[in-house]
Amino acid sequence: MRYLLGLLACSLFTLSTLNAQTPEISSSTDIYHSIEKLNFLGTALYIAAHPDDENTRLIAYLANNVKARTGYLSLTRGDGGQNLIGPELRELLGVLRTQELLAARRVDGGEQFFSRANDFGYSKQPDETLEIWDKEAILGDVVRTIRKFKPDVIINRFDHRTPGTTHGHHTSSAMLSFEAFDLANDANAYPEQLSATNTWQPKRLFFNTSWWFYGSQEKFKAADKTNLLHMDVGTYYPILGKSNNEIASLASSQHLCQGFGRLSSRGSEDEYIELLKGDLTQDKSDLFDGIDTTWSRIDGGKAIGDILYDVQENFNFKNPSVHIPKLLEAYELLQNVSDEHWKHLKTVELTTIISAISGLHLEAFTKISSTNPGQNVDVQIQALNRSDINIELKSVFINNQNTNIELSTLNNNKLFEKKINLNIPASTDFTSPYWLMEKGTLGTYTVENKALIGKPETPRAFNATFNLNINGISIPFTKPLVYKYAKPDKGEIYQPFEVVPEATASFTDKVMIFADASPKRIPVTIKAHKDSISGTVELKYGTEWQVDKKSQPFSINKKGDEQTVYFTLIPPATENENSISPIIKLNGKEITKELVTIAYDHVPTQTVLLPSESKVVRLDIQKAGENIGYIMGAGDAVPTSLEQIGYNVQLIDPTTITKESLKKYDAVVLGIRAYNVVDELKFKQRFILDYAKNGGTVIVQYNTASRWGAQFENIAPYDLEISRDRVTNENSDVKIIAKDNSLVHFPNEINESDFNGWVQERGLYFPNKWSKEFTPILEMHDEGEEATKGSLLIAPYGKGNYIYTGLSFFRELPVGVPGAYKLFSNMLSVGKDKVETKAKIKG
Ligand SMILES: [Zn+2]
Repeated sequence: MRYLLGLLACSLFTLSTLNAQTPEISSSTDIYHSIEKLNFLGTALYIAAHPDDENTRLIAYLANNVKARTGYLSLTRGDGGQNLIGPELRELLGVLRTQELLAARRVDGGEQFFSRANDFGYSKQPDETLEIWDKEAILGDVVRTIRKFKPDVIINRFDHRTPGTTHGHHTSSAMLSFEAFDLANDANAYPEQLSATNTWQPKRLFFNTSWWFYGSQEKFKAADKTNLLHMDVGTYYPILGKSNNEIASLASSQHLCQGFGRLSSRGSEDEYIELLKGDLTQDKSDLFDGIDTTWSRIDGGKAIGDILYDVQENFNFKNPSVHIPKLLEAYELLQNVSDEHWKHLKTVELTTIISAISGLHLEAFTKISSTNPGQNVDVQIQALNRSDINIELKSVFINNQNTNIELSTLNNNKLFEKKINLNIPASTDFTSPYWLMEKGTLGTYTVENKALIGKPETPRAFNATFNLNINGISIPFTKPLVYKYAKPDKGEIYQPFEVVPEATASFTDKVMIFADASPKRIPVTIKAHKDSISGTVELKYGTEWQVDKKSQPFSINKKGDEQTVYFTLIPPATENENSISPIIKLNGKEITKELVTIAYDHVPTQTVLLPSESKVVRLDIQKAGENIGYIMGAGDAVPTSLEQIGYNVQLIDPTTITKESLKKYDAVVLGIRAYNVVDELKFKQRFILDYAKNGGTVIVQYNTASRWGAQFENIAPYDLEISRDRVTNENSDVKIIAKDNSLVHFPNEINESDFNGWVQERGLYFPNKWSKEFTPILEMHDEGEEATKGSLLIAPYGKGNYIYTGLSFFRELPVGVPGAYKLFSNMLSVGKDKVETKAKIKG
């Protein structure tokens, strides 16, 4: 409840992209826009699968033109995507993309919801998706969101009738929405939810079609659209000084880690919607046609509407505070409304408007970013009335702690200020994303506290409630406790105030590969989140492994500082996969977490506590060759992985490649999408191919089909055509079809079991045509599809070899998949069996 208050406070319209903690600046036009929204009692929910799937034009249109309460339910948090702006991947990327969605909603005026579904990677078919997601659970989450949000209309981004034409997650989102539309009103469906909410029947379900469902803009133009609702979403809002599409562009440009920063579009723009369920409407441009969206829809609402429509009609832009008495009258009437749903929502909106109109500034902030449970923290409380309205500050509570402020009158523009000392109870939970607290499955996050399901983020741990008398009427205002500071090069900054453990520990590498029986020195870095701490750190490890010391002492003086201690880890004699964790022992407590901070300018800083753990893998890898040259493409961690198994890897700057420069390498590897992103390769390709011709091994990892051909006719020494073929099921069967090829024998014997334990997918963008010089090594396919043989191709070229592979080594090596290491080592060793045999004969 308190949390909602904070969340909704942000929906008072502002185009600023300041983060959620920054106080609102509300001009008269912002306030007027909020009153228009206050007077519309209708709700729309948009449903899709990923952050960035949502049509921000339609969301902005519904929120600002229709003035509906508008939500976006993204089933996943986008954990499976790429990251263009930093190192976060998987669940950490999900945390960042969650915040980018919230930033987008702050711009377009929508609200944000999620399910527990994990974006586990690409799937072609919805049945595959729904098997990996726990379908019952995720369907239940959609039902729960509908029951709590109570939309009149639901709009799907994707078509539930066309499985296989887009990402399986996309079609699944539409299918689940289609099913949930009826289930939400069925008391026998998910009855356990009904203790916290009630059943709800939305009136209409739509599908938001687009030209890309028709194949081309021309085909869409020509298509029969008589059954579709149509609206022009390019509308201009003089009150806001922006057009709807400008707002939409700004909103989708928040998806920076996906590279969605884009130019604004302007002018008339058509949007088409197909009715899937519910009654047909008369007005084909109005989703809410025939639905009562006035105050009269609630019992006791008419009298409130009479007051508020009048305020809207006669709004005084020069001195909006003249409306306070009427708004207070409406507030009192609203408190007697029996419909708890609308009473709560409209109370939040109305108090936010009252606060903005009286120029109220209410704030509780700390000057430190974080603390630990059981500590005391100085909190600055400020209250300021910037109107002639008669306002008294009665009391301020932070959670349940009374700050013992005495009754004070807030005179116009006289700042009230008081410093208090807040106790952080020892039982306070650490700050962290709630969906990462427990270990989930591949497809679904585990959330113990059901009340949190659907929420975009963990509610703030500390909130200040300011109890005010405004013209004698008692109204509480709740604000999250924030951390406020100034940076000389940035100005005033607001960030969330966090509760963290006294210390956390982490390993440098999330996966440690032992190519043989040699021990490795393992650094453990301890970070202090409190001054003057000292304790010990131990390693927890599997029985087959050994560590040189039982524990290591540490002692750190200053909060924020780090200390690194070292253990020597001795691997078992044979192949083994295990995990190790550091355990901090401090004042009788054990801490097993690591802390990751995600900090960017466009979103609030995020603190994520994860189990501190690394995977350790003892392999038995044979290698031939030593020096590898690596030409980085779009970015991957393959070089680090190869170094872990003892290769000497040098990153090659493509501009420095000459006829001679590659000679020193045993193999030259091109990183993923190198030919797509490194233009310089156009000029250096002949040297790379010559290197192979003269006896070297060139290994090219996947490139996408686009830009192929025109730019790089000679990417391979022989004809090779890249297709969109991919095998997305990481467990699909793999057959070795070139059983005699040394690539599957030297120096490691590869068999089909080496394809066990792969993650996310087999590979992508496999060639589907190649000249006779190439030998396909493997055959694989997704269920119900034809076999593809293009995942790994090798051709002799001159005295050397050329290998093209779309296998996802860039995913498998960093997570320590043994079979992938063996196969990669074999690729690097191609041709060296003959050399060794010769050497042996000579010797
Ligand atoms: Zn998507």
